[in-house]
Amino acid sequence: MLILSRLRHKSNFVILAFVTGVTKFLERSIVDTQHLKENCDLRRLVEQDLGPAPLRGGRAYLWKCPFHNEHKGFSLAVWANGYRCFGACDTSGDALDWLTNYRRLSFTEALRALGEPTVTVAPTERKCLKSPSEPPEWNWQHRAERIVSQAEETLWSEMGEPALNYLIGRGLTTRIIRTARLGYVPGDFRQWRVIEGMDVPCGITIPWLAAGALWAVKVRRAYGTPKYQQIKGGNVNGLYGADQLVDRDIALFCEGEFDALLARQEAGDLAAAVTLSSATAILSSRWYAELTHCHTILVAYDRDAAGQKGANRLLSLSPRFSPIQVPQGKDVGEFYMQGGDVYSWIEKELASERKEVLENGYP
Ligand SMILES: [Zn+2]
Repeated sequence: MLILSRLRHKSNFVILAFVTGVTKFLERSIVDTQHLKENCDLRRLVEQDLGPAPLRGGRAYLWKCPFHNEHKGFSLAVWANGYRCFGACDTSGDALDWLTNYRRLSFTEALRALGEPTVTVAPTERKCLKSPSEPPEWNWQHRAERIVSQAEETLWSEMGEPALNYLIGRGLTTRIIRTARLGYVPGDFRQWRVIEGMDVPCGITIPWLAAGALWAVKVRRAYGTPKYQQIKGGNVNGLYGADQLVDRDIALFCEGEFDALLARQEAGDLAAAVTLSSATAILSSRWYAELTHCHTILVAYDRDAAGQKGANRLLSLSPRFSPIQVPQGKDVGEFYMQGGDVYSWIEKELASERKEVLENGYP
């Protein structure tokens, strides 16, 4: 709050270095903040990172606080000129702090980012595309990687037998289970364990590896809602399977990780299978960029209202997205388990897609 009142009361010049606590810039960082104040509405910046605010209170927009990975409340209050968490971490700051702490930009990069004119995002686009997301810090990744390896070992041991049987029962081959580095943390489905100093839910571990980083570790629990949890501190604002997109011109969006793995196993040479992990998750521009070279992006979401809504959100991004539905069953997994041929289905969908392009040209 001290920071905010400073910004408000001191006129045009503030020693920004003091504000951000970057002392090495102390001497030379007397910067004109008039520009900052006039051109940057911090709420817009945060919106780019966290999506539209789920709650509003007066002039403050409220989000779940990403700094302490908040689950229950909406403790992060953001005003035009500053933010503050009223929850566990009590963090606060201004636009520069947001850029350095959340986006992990350097001080100079942050200043540059603020100097850039704000791009006004069309309302539909804002709803359909989240802006760039970054992987968790190295320390987190390092520890999570060790948990992933440990869980992998357990899955292939005697202790992991029930979990392995469950995966095979869902149609996955041992080969894809190994490639995807799935693992198992034994325990009751309500239980969380502390491993490597991190809170880990018990169940089947699904590491989200992409672009050389470990973004998150999702955990499929045996029972209970939500069915999926994750190791605290991970960033699931990613695209599972994104590495499959390299040099591929056809992508296939599935609703969940197991469906994506099954599609990759059965029809991986037809299309690169990816997932946002749920129909409600929103694609980040970080990953949308990875799809630029795809001329066809099939969307095979579940046959239900949520699936329809999620698919429509993707379809509104670009005419390259094209909705498809499994010939029978609710989703790819069910279709496969009912004896469906995933390869021929995708092949047929692609053929009719090509036919449409030949007749009508690209949209
Ligand atoms: Zn917080």
